[in-house]
Amino acid sequence: MTVLDNLLDELLASRVTIVDLTAPLSDRTPIIQLPPPFANTQGFSLQEISRYDERGPAWYWNNISAGEHVGTHFDAPVHWVTGQDGLDVSQIPTQHLIAPVVVVDKSAECVQDPNFLLQIADLEAWQQKHGPLPDGGWLLYRTGWDSHADDQAAFLNADETGPHTPGVSVECARWLAEQAPIIGMGVETVGTDAGTAHSFDPPFPCHAFLLGAGKYGLTQLANLAKLPPTGAILVVAPLPIVGGSGSPARVLALVAG
Ligand code: MN
Repeated sequence: MTVLDNLLDELLASRVTIVDLTAPLSDRTPIIQLPPPFANTQGFSLQEISRYDERGPAWYWNNISAGEHVGTHFDAPVHWVTGQDGLDVSQIPTQHLIAPVVVVDKSAECVQDPNFLLQIADLEAWQQKHGPLPDGGWLLYRTGWDSHADDQAAFLNADETGPHTPGVSVECARWLAEQAPIIGMGVETVGTDAGTAHSFDPPFPCHAFLLGAGKYGLTQLANLAKLPPTGAILVVAPLPIVGGSGSPARVLALVAG
C-alpha cells in the first residue's frame, strides 16, 4: 500500500480529519480599516452575471471583487517594503503550501487583555512542553479572536486610539523571523500584527521582520481550537495572482485521531 493509499484509507475511516480554518467569504467579511491618509482595501462582493434567466437561461455565475487582503488570506513577502525584492504570491514554492503546523494557544490571556502580545518567553515555554517549532512549518497563534469574525466592529475593536487586538511583541516578531525555523505565522485577527502595532518600533513588526525574511503570513483563520498543539499538517491554497502581494486562501488542516 502506498503512502497516498494509506492516507485515503485514514481519511475515509475518519482517523484523519480535515479541519477547515477558512472564514466564510461574503460582503460581511471583516476588512482592515487604515486611518487617513492611507488607502483602504475593497471588501468582498459578488456581482451577478446571470441566474437561469434571459442573461443565461441554464446557468448561474457571478463576477467577484475583493482586495487581495480580504478574509482568510495569505501575505506574500512582497506585501511589505522590507520584502519588496521577495516572492509574490504566485511564486510561493508548492512545498511551502503543505507543511507541518503547530498551535500556540493564548486565548485565555486574550480574553483578559485584547492588547495581549506574544513574547519570546511564551514560545520558549511552549517548546519546553511540546518540542521545537517545526523546521519548514507554520506557527498558528490562537487568540480566540475568530469568535468576533461575524461582527466588523467587534473584530477590529477600535476606539479613538485605534484598534485593540492581540499580536506579537517587537522582540518576538524579530525572533520568529530571524531565529525560528518556521516559514510563516498565522493568526485569527485581521492582520498578523497587533491592533496597536502602528505605534511599535518598528511599526507592524510581524510584517516588517517576517516578510522581510522571506517568510509568510496567514490571517483571519478560524477553528484553531480544533487543532492539536503539534502533529497536524497545514494545506494553504492562495490563488496564484501574478505579481500579487497576497490572496484570499482556502486553509485546511489534516489532523490525526
Ligand atoms: Mn494581509
